[in-house]
Amino acid sequence: MQTPPIETPAWIDSATFRLPETGFFRQRVPKDLIVLHATASSTARSVFDTWKNPASGRVATAYVVERNGRVYEMFPPDCWAYHLGMRVRNPGHYNDRRSIGIEIVNPGPLRPDPEGADTLNWWPDNFRKPWCLISEKEKYLCREFRGFKYYAAYTQKQYAAVGQLVDWLCRRFGIPRVLPPATQRDVSDPDTFCKFRGIAAHHNFRPDKFDVGPAWDWNKLLSSASGRPEAA
Ligand SMILES: [Zn+2]
Repeated sequence: MQTPPIETPAWIDSATFRLPETGFFRQRVPKDLIVLHATASSTARSVFDTWKNPASGRVATAYVVERNGRVYEMFPPDCWAYHLGMRVRNPGHYNDRRSIGIEIVNPGPLRPDPEGADTLNWWPDNFRKPWCLISEKEKYLCREFRGFKYYAAYTQKQYAAVGQLVDWLCRRFGIPRVLPPATQRDVSDPDTFCKFRGIAAHHNFRPDKFDVGPAWDWNKLLSSASGRPEAA
């Protein structure tokens, strides 16, 4: 079935970072899933610079949400690119194709400074790059998850932007605005999530992934402006 042309809202920036056609697949696919990721970087530009290189092999997501809440569209959301990297339960890249990926700019897991400074550091130089002070408790979450104890917080502007983006994508593509049940949100369970329709996280599809991770507060998506999503 032919879908009508997409009207992109003005708050989506689809000009600044636009991938060349070597960066994704032009094929249009019906969508029934949104997958949240984190970039393990501090800017949207860093992922764009990686993805626009043909050597990256069409790995990308359609959207990247900056720390300040700006939403960048990198390719048309009815097309697709590799973004899950699943080695099982993904015949013909079925889950990459049926989903829309949203990368949220976030440094990922943090570690206490190895030299004993009062900072939590992110991965560059083997976790020597400071992200925040240990005393800045609003900037991270302390919780054991997949071998790390600290995860960088998302910004309030990112929660607002992701909520708005998810609302629009669910309406536009008829994706159920449904979250995983609370007991499933932290787990990797490809059997369940390969059948799931709604909004999920990369860490639900792979046991070795830290994103979107425990710092993402699903309840803020539940209470975002226009949608009234239910837990499945
Ligand atoms: Zn990811």
